[in-house]
Amino acid sequence: MQGFLDAVSLALCQEKCRVCNEELKVDLIEFLNSPREWKELNRTTLCDSCFFKLELEPSLLKIVNIENMAPLLVASRLPYQGPLKKILYHLKYDDDRLVVKDLALFLSQALDDLAKMVRIKDCLLVPVPLHWKRLLKRGFNQAELMAQRVAYSHDIRIEKRALARTRPTATQHQLGKQERKLNVSGAFQARRRLVEGTHIILVDDLLTSGATLSSCANALMDSGALSVNAVTLAYALQPAKQTLQKL
Ligand SMILES: [Zn+2]
Repeated sequence: MQGFLDAVSLALCQEKCRVCNEELKVDLIEFLNSPREWKELNRTTLCDSCFFKLELEPSLLKIVNIENMAPLLVASRLPYQGPLKKILYHLKYDDDRLVVKDLALFLSQALDDLAKMVRIKDCLLVPVPLHWKRLLKRGFNQAELMAQRVAYSHDIRIEKRALARTRPTATQHQLGKQERKLNVSGAFQARRRLVEGTHIILVDDLLTSGATLSSCANALMDSGALSVNAVTLAYALQPAKQTLQKL
């Protein structure tokens, strides 16, 4: 049903590629002939050319080990630069939730990368939460929307209430290394009854120093999680140096 709605929406609304602005075309006859294949192959917000350019980017699998924080393995698929910045901007600030369908394909690939090291079928997906004030302002948590897609595609359980962000934090990629750690240290609380005895995979949109993920992992391990690893859609190439922003 979702595939049909995507196809009709594309045909009627004349969606454009969020990177190059080219009009996306949809062949409804092709969709009606093989809806399943259409759904798998067609994108709703990226043209073929932009999608394949992104797909050629090198993926990342790294161990994040921050002092006094739980170490974890993070798989990430795309460098946070040019076209991807543009797409994420559309998502976060133009409320363009249609891009989630296409972005989740890259998150799926990150999960496949992690699966080389971790038995993902035994894990629980936990999206990194926003503080309630930011959630109220934006109306959605982009990490949660993407996590829902990959939970469905990989048939993995998801638990959105496992973590809560107990205080507002500044955007990580605008901070220096030490500031990032301070910014998110102790900012998360886990619900013991939901995480005790489970293996967790955290889901977030962007990996910078890994301080946010490590802080989440700390909270989860303190509440009895057996292991914590993570996938993110994108990874920052160069840490920025700016100072801590006041919220
Ligand atoms: Zn394009």
